[in-house]
Amino acid sequence: TQYNKKDVHVLFKQILPLFETQATYNNIQLVTEFDLDELMINCNENQLKQVFVNFIKNAIEATSNGGVIKIECKKEQNELCIRFIDEGSGISEENIKRLGEPFFTTKENGTGLGLMISFKIIEEHGGTIQVESQLGIGSIFKIKLPFC
Ligand code: ADP
Ligand code: MG
Repeated sequence: TQYNKKDVHVLFKQILPLFETQATYNNIQLVTEFDLDELMINCNENQLKQVFVNFIKNAIEATSNGGVIKIECKKEQNELCIRFIDEGSGISEENIKRLGEPFFTTKENGTGLGLMISFKIIEEHGGTIQVESQLGIGSIFKIKLPFC
């Protein structure tokens, strides 16, 4: 796998337009917040974009009409912290334990592979993923990655 120095802003700028139509159609607002102008990390660009796409897609699928999804990118204790925050369906305690299990899905047409692949990619980048979720309230998926 090839790793290069990339700015996470640039990666998000490349993928966010992919969701414009779907978000507008469902009246969902995608809000981004970056605390620094430049957040450089050593990464495989395509793999990392796939992870971001998976999380945004899951957040949109969990959110009903009129909802807001927030993406925060911050420097925290010398690590890059990316949070995908939704006010969607939330995940039951029982199902939280199963996240990342291959083929675990609660969707009629889901593959249950997005999170498994995302966990693997972030682990290979030396990072971690944490999930906080409450049924009926929403979810936060937090990715931590080392800086260059
Ligand atoms: P898929 O999206 O194909 O179901 P994923 O691996 O992406 O597969 O997600 C697995 C399951 O985790 C989903 O079916 C859903 O139950 C749960 N999930 C993931 N992200 C969210 C989220 N943001 N809100 C609620 N549930 C989620
Ligand atoms: Mg998914």
